[in-house]
Amino acid sequence: MPPLDHGTPPLLDIDAVTVRIPDAGRSFLPVRGASLELRPGETLAVIGESGSGKSMLGLAVVRLLPGRAEVAGGIRFGGRDILSLDEDEMAAIRGRGIAFVPQGAGLALNPCMRAVRQVEEVLERDGEAGTARQEARLLMARLGLEGAAGRMYPHQLSGGMRQRLLLAMGLTCRPRLLIADEPTKGIDSRRVEDVIALFRGIRADRPELAMMVITHDLRFARAVADRVAVMYAGDVVEEAPAGRFFAAPRHPYSQGLLGAMPEFGLNPIPGASPPVDALVEGCAFAPRCRSALPECRTARPPRVAHDGALVACRRP
Ligand code: SF4
Repeated sequence: MPPLDHGTPPLLDIDAVTVRIPDAGRSFLPVRGASLELRPGETLAVIGESGSGKSMLGLAVVRLLPGRAEVAGGIRFGGRDILSLDEDEMAAIRGRGIAFVPQGAGLALNPCMRAVRQVEEVLERDGEAGTARQEARLLMARLGLEGAAGRMYPHQLSGGMRQRLLLAMGLTCRPRLLIADEPTKGIDSRRVEDVIALFRGIRADRPELAMMVITHDLRFARAVADRVAVMYAGDVVEEAPAGRFFAAPRHPYSQGLLGAMPEFGLNPIPGASPPVDALVEGCAFAPRCRSALPECRTARPPRVAHDGALVACRRP
């Protein structure tokens, strides 16, 4: 997708990325030609249903996909071609360059280590053992994990506290880009406001930090994002400023997503996404789209600019 013109060079540039995972004679394509840009100080929400390829795209950026995955296209971070780096160079980028906060806060933590110690350990790994303890405690205090909470083990923390601990671990090396995968997943809906406040606090604290939040939670995306990218069947089908997107989404899939929100009537989109190993000709959304034209089924729709948004649709 051609980039929206923002004037500032992108920190992260994802260009027509495809992820292929061969398995037992089959070929899975969780990401199919997705393109995105992200600038310093910007929060981009990547939204879409489960299986739309959002998490796989995030994992491709930090090169943490399963070993047999093949990535085509281009991923540039700070002008460097991520896909051409050797593993040592990539390891140096993870942490100080890009912090990745995975989904499933419980699984990503060491169950045998107290909360504050997990943050200290990240700093020590980064060669800052001398200041690790003090830094870790300061960061945890800013994220509301000071005192007794810091001395707890992961199983003693609530879902929201575990999420904050993971964010503390991600932020501790002062990365330029934070990728958070489903930060509200598994958190009681009444506590989502806490996660929203947390991300707003991070934004206020670190205005230069670029954030990519991967989420199926539209309420969360609306509360924290400057820009929204909608993924469907492995591709980005709409990209738009958040205010404009939530006021008037252009792509029929985006309209369906918003229509499924409680305030818009809880109307789910009929049908299902194509299987991840399916060959897709034309528009992947065509079988579910009420506006589909005959040509939608045979040729991939062009991606065009509409009133500040980029939309991959023949009838936006
Ligand atoms: S390209 Fe055609 S089928 Fe696809 S979303 Fe647009 S109108 Fe619907």
